[in-house]
Amino acid sequence: MRHIAIVGSGPAGYYTAEAAAKKWGEEVRVDVFDQLPVPYGLIRTGVAPDHQSIKLVSRRYEKTALSDNVRFVGNVSVGSDVSIAELQSLYDAVILATGAPNDRQLNLDGHDLANVFGSAAFVGWYNGHPQFADLAPDLSGRHAVVIGMGNVALDVARMLSKSEQEFAGSDIVAHALDALAASNMETITIVGRRGPHQIMMTPKELGELMHLERASPQVDKSDLPPVDDDSILEPGLRKSVTLLRDFAAIPQNIHGEKPIAIEFDFFASPTAFHGEYGRVTSVEVERTRVEAGRAVATGETYSIPADLVVTCIGYRSSPIEGVPFDERAGRFANDDGRILPGLYCVGWARRGPSGTIGTNRPDGYAVIELVEADIGAGERKKGREGFDELVEKRGLDVVTFRDWQNIEQAEEAAAREGAPREKFVDVASMIAARGPL
Ligand code: NAP
Repeated sequence: MRHIAIVGSGPAGYYTAEAAAKKWGEEVRVDVFDQLPVPYGLIRTGVAPDHQSIKLVSRRYEKTALSDNVRFVGNVSVGSDVSIAELQSLYDAVILATGAPNDRQLNLDGHDLANVFGSAAFVGWYNGHPQFADLAPDLSGRHAVVIGMGNVALDVARMLSKSEQEFAGSDIVAHALDALAASNMETITIVGRRGPHQIMMTPKELGELMHLERASPQVDKSDLPPVDDDSILEPGLRKSVTLLRDFAAIPQNIHGEKPIAIEFDFFASPTAFHGEYGRVTSVEVERTRVEAGRAVATGETYSIPADLVVTCIGYRSSPIEGVPFDERAGRFANDDGRILPGLYCVGWARRGPSGTIGTNRPDGYAVIELVEADIGAGERKKGREGFDELVEKRGLDVVTFRDWQNIEQAEEAAAREGAPREKFVDVASMIAARGPL
């Protein structure tokens, strides 16, 4: 019998559990840990609430979670409730699937002004992550600045633009829905330090901006390179740039019909945040030009009004005591997923915050091959039986998958009309909803 601990129950965690169960069948026991009492990580608290079809992938993870040889161990924080060294002493392999939950910081002057947030915090807020549920961004201003030109920037701009009706069928949490419904935003400026050919936005996500009830995307024609230059782009990016060209062609009177403008500000590298009375009022940027794909400063600066700023410039993993960490890259130091024999990482914890949910599937299958190569004929450890002794000794309050199903039912029962669920946004309410022990 092989005993595997997977730390993190998001896509990377569950694809890895699936791979282990497929490879070893009855010859493996997998424990999937999460510090929250609820599973699915990024699917629950990262994926935008109006992208329900993406969230459906959790049904696949549920199938894995319900198989006899895989168990969910919720409400256990690896690093504080149990150390990595302890897990390593109990399991034949420990696989970190902890994602990249922290913002890459834009440490400019004024970054600590009120109403400047990183996307982990802002997305966590509208998705009801217990850590960020109390963020209370002030949406009473007229101008929001979103920094970065990736899909997260698009998610944030879209959330800030949608009407209450457009959130029908989504699982946006009530506190965010109420705050967004009362928002006064009129202009959302998406700031990119490079040009249209360097965006990280994918066509499907970018195309959604065309169909917003209240908002219209605006691109300045003069920012676009000659159309013939698009032929060198890979097909996905070429489609995205074609959409930017479509945005640039929208006539002024159509913009006028919608009360919110989503402006694309290219070739603009943030240099400082300015504020009054401790609250942000503007973002100072420096004009750039792109040379050989890199942003080069020109010395010309200007200021963009900003009552709210959300930086969407990528994420970093959380270091765990005793695990080698690559500070520069913001993820665990690893060689194709192997940190040390017996200790591995997978998904964003391995490769950084890139790719789609599906990218984690081959990652999960690959790391299980590494585990097999390392532990193939070795001695076996005590596994979950040993962990259960530790739970008893330490008085840990483990939340099981059965408990989660009770929590899920309570969330479904509390849903607004037409919504799939109303999430609990604090750990105590989640635990209270699991029902009698
Ligand atoms: P991303 O795609 O890496 O985009 C980050 C953006 O931030 C880039 O435009 C980057 O510009 C910019 N940036 C980085 N450092 C900066 C700085 N110091 N100053 C100004 N701009 C800076 O990251 P992401 O948007 O966080 O997305 C993470 C991953 O999740 C991606 O793979 C994304 O596709 C995926 N995702 C997918 C969906 C979806 O499919 N619906 C939704 C959300 C996220 P440079 O290129 O110039 O560095």
